[in-house]
Amino acid sequence: MVVVMSPQATETDITAVVERVATAGGEAFVSRGVSRTIIGLIGDIEQFHALNLRAMSGVSDVMRVSTPFKLVSRTNHPQRSTIRVGGAAIGPDTFTLVAGPCAVESREQTIEAAQMARSAGATLLRGGAFKPRTSPYAFQGLGEKGLAILAEAREVTGLPVVTEVMDAADVRLVASYADMLQVGTRNMQNFALLQAVGQAGKPVLLKRGMTATIEEWLMAAEYVAQRGNLDIVLCERGIRTFERSYRNTLDISAVPVVQGLSHLPVMIDPSHSGGRKDLVVPLSRAAIAVGADGILVDVHPHPEEALVDGPQALVDGDLRALAAMVRQLPPMLGRQGPG
Ligand code: PEP
Ligand code: MN
Repeated sequence: MVVVMSPQATETDITAVVERVATAGGEAFVSRGVSRTIIGLIGDIEQFHALNLRAMSGVSDVMRVSTPFKLVSRTNHPQRSTIRVGGAAIGPDTFTLVAGPCAVESREQTIEAAQMARSAGATLLRGGAFKPRTSPYAFQGLGEKGLAILAEAREVTGLPVVTEVMDAADVRLVASYADMLQVGTRNMQNFALLQAVGQAGKPVLLKRGMTATIEEWLMAAEYVAQRGNLDIVLCERGIRTFERSYRNTLDISAVPVVQGLSHLPVMIDPSHSGGRKDLVVPLSRAAIAVGADGILVDVHPHPEEALVDGPQALVDGDLRALAAMVRQLPPMLGRQGPG
């Protein structure tokens, strides 16, 4: 932590800061510049927060120099992590393709979508049984019945399943069917839910909140990690900006920035980012180029009949074309394709 004194600070002010830091067991290193003095602090940052240094006379600013997240930080864990979900691996060595319906709507639709995913070379099946909908009148998902359908799709295809859980009270139920638990954008700062999934014994896919900063996102991951679960995959799915031509703005810069700050894998969801089928391939190309660890795409056998997110769903032929690109491009950039 660094304390920046104001140009008007007196020697008494500086001494007062140094003495107060000592009461918290910290060390203070004073460096005197031409117009300002700065004081570097070494010690327990939480104790320093309690000192309320910003309120002291002559103090102009107090800045944190280390990151507030610890367990997910790359500082103490320089090696990037690979997270395993059944036979799927998500990490720096491969580019992972996750595909499936946005929502589980029926047994037939889900099995068909799962077979599309399998034959295209996806290694993980996505699909929502509990759907976070903006409108309470919209289709909310099939709940436990949907989870059972996903388990059947896993039986049929052999693909492990990632599905969203929206409520801490449902974590046990969802974990009893799923191989990986998804926390959606709208719940990224539902701290009770994060703690519950941190204790569920299943890997977690943590989507970025649509208005969350990178630091808030990593602090959300820290909540999961702090409950003993470091099997976390981060997923950038677009953020809210002023632009309305597409649903969200894919924050492509977040990928290398987060990979620099955290050892956790970072995927991209090109389907929910754009909300438009025509953007899925270009955004997937961008995901590969920027070094993302994989993509998560919506597929549907009959998008025109979809109950949720039809406009962004790929049909079988689209998915095959995408999968071909996903096999070709990553090796050109020094990374294995899926499968
Ligand atoms: C989803 O993946 O089904 C979903 C609802 O995504 P998000 O939380 O990113 O909107
Ligand atoms: Mn959706």
